[in-house]
Amino acid sequence: MSIIEVSNLKKSYGDLEVLKQITFDVNKNDVVAVIGPSGSGKSTMLRSLVHLEEINSGSICVSGDYLVKDGVYSKSQEIKKITSKMGMVFQHFNLFPHMTVKENLEVAPRMLKKQPAHLIQQQSADLLEKVGLSDRATAYPANLSGGQKQRVAIARALMMNPDILLFDEPTSALDPELTGEVLQVMKHLAEEHMTMIVVTHEMGFAKEVANRAIFMDNGEIIESGHPDNLFTNPQYDRTKAFLNRSL
Ligand code: ADP
Ligand code: MG
Repeated sequence: MSIIEVSNLKKSYGDLEVLKQITFDVNKNDVVAVIGPSGSGKSTMLRSLVHLEEINSGSICVSGDYLVKDGVYSKSQEIKKITSKMGMVFQHFNLFPHMTVKENLEVAPRMLKKQPAHLIQQQSADLLEKVGLSDRATAYPANLSGGQKQRVAIARALMMNPDILLFDEPTSALDPELTGEVLQVMKHLAEEHMTMIVVTHEMGFAKEVANRAIFMDNGEIIESGHPDNLFTNPQYDRTKAFLNRSL
């Protein structure tokens, strides 16, 4: 079953064509690693899926509902419903600095869902335990390490029970010794069959955890396949050159 279907997606900033003709599907339980050089359009692609950017043409369908079909966006109520099925984790965490960890997790569900407070609190306690941060519930983001902040961001994204989690270079802003704890949480989610798209430079993680890798360059998907194949037997020179620099 497809969770996300993207077809013929195009996006420009002025004269700069950033996404050229992007087509791919993500099936339930897939872990898709998106790799490619800086400036190739990875973030723009991910941000388009959650409507942080608007595309110029093409279609994005999430769990059977069109966010945008042939360049025409759905009504705002429908867009809200569709984007709420996706959780996003950013490179720079994007936590609310004036809220505690627990408040960061609970604020969106409180505003968006008609759920009783005690259930929301139970869920945030469960998710903080899952990411190993039960003891930091009342801390403020400024008093957390980068790895802890990113684990909070992941727990916060999970609060909305998303069909899919999107990660944009979740460990790129972290000191090397803190990347492991974040990758471990993501690996654990994959083992629980969470559907994920992960833009990453962590080739080890991509190989170990992803069941599909997509290589993007210059606004295009150059090739995709199982990481075992793509990493060991890339078909295109651009992929080979990138992998030679990255592995
Ligand atoms: P990646 O995430 O692969 O590094 P991006 O999606 O961030 O690539 O960027 C793709 C291209 O789009 C780059 O050339 C970048 O400079 C350009 N770009 C990204 N955001 C904007 C913007 N808001 N305005 C103009 N150009 C942008
Ligand atoms: Mg990026």
